[in-house]
Amino acid sequence: MRPIIEILMADITKIEVDAIINAANNSLLGGGGVDGAIHRAAGPELLEECRSLNGCETGFAKITKGYNLPSKFVIHTVGPVWFGGTFGEEDLLISCYEECLQLAFANRAKSIAFPAISTGVYGFPADQAAFIALNSVTEFLSRYETDFEKIIFVAYDIKTYEEYVRLVADNDEED
Ligand code: ADP
Repeated sequence: MRPIIEILMADITKIEVDAIINAANNSLLGGGGVDGAIHRAAGPELLEECRSLNGCETGFAKITKGYNLPSKFVIHTVGPVWFGGTFGEEDLLISCYEECLQLAFANRAKSIAFPAISTGVYGFPADQAAFIALNSVTEFLSRYETDFEKIIFVAYDIKTYEEYVRLVADNDEED
């Protein structure tokens, strides 16, 4: 069965799902933006577990518990910094989404929420990133038999929200 795809404008730390995705940095030791919000909401035990992970390479992902968050897991992925688009940024962002879905599946997470990875401090253009986000997930779902029930794309600003809504509407028209 295909999971429900939802678009929300929300604070990802408040969402009750099995796993939320963190747009982390290579150290996995916290930072600004969504990363900072997730660490604040999860509490200090998250940082403790992250210290044991020895960082994470760009385009990959690692999983921890969610501690004080309503979600059971946090999947930390490191998106690419945008350097103009000719440094493999697209492939690295696709890889983030795939790695997160693989980890979620391996840990039997059935509901997942993604923030717009790389579109904050890392500077990836919001429209391109939204396209990659939706396409990577759709591709993954057509390639693998999963038992995901719900996949949520969480926007934190209206531009990103509208971009997701537009892309989902376009996809629905094609179906
Ligand atoms: P990156 O370093 O990958 O660019 P950022 O955290 O700077 O990560 O931004 C990634 C996206 O997460 C941006 O679209 C930003 O607006 C959004 N964001 C920031 N805080 C939150 C939050 N609490 N919940 C959901 N999304 C958030």
